[in-house]
Amino acid sequence: MDLKQYITIVEDWPKPGIKFKDITTLMDNGEAYKYATDQIVEYAREKKIDLVVGPEARGFIIGCPVAYSLGVGFAPVRKEGKLPRETVKVNYGLEYGKDILTIHKDAIKPGQRVLITDDLLATGGTIDATIQLVEELGGVVAGIAFLIELTYLDGRKKLDDYDILTLMQY
Ligand code: AMP
Repeated sequence: MDLKQYITIVEDWPKPGIKFKDITTLMDNGEAYKYATDQIVEYAREKKIDLVVGPEARGFIIGCPVAYSLGVGFAPVRKEGKLPRETVKVNYGLEYGKDILTIHKDAIKPGQRVLITDDLLATGGTIDATIQLVEELGGVVAGIAFLIELTYLDGRKKLDDYDILTLMQY
């Protein structure tokens, strides 16, 4: 299936110069959403994943159906102040901003094989921060899966030591 036909490119959003890749038109289509999810599930099976971790909000959209399909758990990574119990945190940079990400301290058991999911790999800042959180809790990052990779931003360079799956490249 050609998944790119379901992605809507929005010019100059949320800032001038950004070509925003809107995945909601893929999620809207049951067949395309299932196809994309199944590709990631297959990859996760090969990597023998124990747990899926994804940053808010679109990392949940990709990661939760994958976790459900595998029968493993999902641990959310959220912006500071959103998780109710003790967290670990990390500062990170975005293609268009800066923020702090957090995860519950007891979300990962040491040695668990983790799949990290997000909608899109841009500079790699968000996922680099997510990796730091997973590893701080003793998790093993066994794979990272995205719907989309913006190859011109070279995010992969930042994630050199990790195995990455991307379903579409721009
Ligand atoms: P980065 O940390 O630079 O890899 O940015 C990745 C995060 O920002 C992803 O979670 C995306 O949801 C979002 N993002 C960055 N650039 C874009 C873009 N051009 N289109 C859609 N989402 C984007």
